[in-house]
Amino acid sequence: MLDGRLADPTDLDGLREVLNASDPEGRLAEIGMKRIEIGSGVLGLLPEVVSGLVDGGKPGGGCVVLVTDPTPIPRDGEELKGLVEEMLAGHFTVERAVVGAEHAELHADEKAIDEAEAAVAGAGCVVVVGSGTISDICKVATARTGGTPLVIVQTVASVNGYSDDVSVLLKNGVKRTVPSRWPDVLLADLPTLVQAPAAMNAAGYGDAIAMYTGPADWYLASLVGMDDSYHPAPVDMVLDYGQALIDGADAMRRHEPEAVDRLVRVLTLGGIAAGVTGTTACLSGTEHLVSHLIDLHAGQNGLPLGFHGAQVGVATLVVAAAWETLFEDLDPSEIDFDACFPEPGKMEPFVREAFAGVDPTGAVADECWSDYRKKLERWRERRGAFEAFLNDWTRHRTELKTMVATPERLGGAMTGAGAPARFGRLNPAVSPETARWAVRNCSLMRNRFTIADLLFFLGWWDDAFVEKLLQRAGSVGGGL
Ligand SMILES: [Zn+2]
Repeated sequence: MLDGRLADPTDLDGLREVLNASDPEGRLAEIGMKRIEIGSGVLGLLPEVVSGLVDGGKPGGGCVVLVTDPTPIPRDGEELKGLVEEMLAGHFTVERAVVGAEHAELHADEKAIDEAEAAVAGAGCVVVVGSGTISDICKVATARTGGTPLVIVQTVASVNGYSDDVSVLLKNGVKRTVPSRWPDVLLADLPTLVQAPAAMNAAGYGDAIAMYTGPADWYLASLVGMDDSYHPAPVDMVLDYGQALIDGADAMRRHEPEAVDRLVRVLTLGGIAAGVTGTTACLSGTEHLVSHLIDLHAGQNGLPLGFHGAQVGVATLVVAAAWETLFEDLDPSEIDFDACFPEPGKMEPFVREAFAGVDPTGAVADECWSDYRKKLERWRERRGAFEAFLNDWTRHRTELKTMVATPERLGGAMTGAGAPARFGRLNPAVSPETARWAVRNCSLMRNRFTIADLLFFLGWWDDAFVEKLLQRAGSVGGGL
């Protein structure tokens, strides 16, 4: 926090200054965006913004391709996508491309990306209007066409993925974060955001609340030698908003513009944090893994996917319970070190077994094991770092505790904001069996070290432990 002020994502020069000042070694990447605007008048900036991007502002710099998904978006009695098309058509040659028109549900998969890539080929500028999924698709598509100028008109505060240089894609049924590109400009139109479906903004609230578990996972990973990318500055920039976010839960439930504005700001900063650190680890920990497994289960069973952030928020309460247990119960003198470093030959069948139920073909297990084995290999090599971590546990516990909120605080925030706090209240509802499976196996899906790995290697993370976590989350309005 600079002089007690919260970081302002619309002041990119100010952000660059703060980040540079806290990064003397130059470990952080540059913010690759030219402009971010959040507020009620930002739509009017669109012609000016696009002019600045189309071939240096010269006329004849190629047409503007407006990319959307098929869902209409209401804004003050009008339809936003049509409104944007009209605004652009007054100044440019505009082509409208609707991606995913033939499917019930749009996913960021290869098919959708191919469709978008064909639509944006040759464009002088691409304007995408919509949610995180279509934005992620366009980030990849325009990266593939050589970095065609890209403007995102954000229509819902549902995720933090707009303002970064990665995209979440569906690969073999598994969600993977892949490098894509920064958008050049992000316009977050507050009236549209305030009128967005309540469940979507509530999902964004859940994604934001994960700041109370995700960054702690990243820090933990750095402490045990499993991740060298940790940097406190971008994390602090986001965490500074935490108290206001929790205090503003009621205002969020009432869709007060100020609360939605704050949510967009914190989500935007989160995206920037991921972009400059080069990893989503700063915001995405165990709670995201649980959500990814829920998606995996749904995808493999042909069920519709729930909102990412809503699932993340529900999982955050469970993960907060895991942190609480770690803080209370870890006694380094009781640890059997040799048992903490399982052989790959022992783990492979275990990982495969975990995913056999969702995908009998074994393709998902292959995908997860190929990522997990890298984590296991590194873990086995960094035994010294783990021992050093335990030797200094009292100090690390104090530090980690400042980054994690109690289940009570988080449960109060989620229920206060009108966001689902229980797996069974998600839409579609996540069954107790699926929730248990997702929590139990979340550490096995990818190469990112989290508290779930630590507790797994300590021998804690079994069915009974997962049950305890779910019950603890249940005691604050979450859980099953
Ligand atoms: Zn997220």
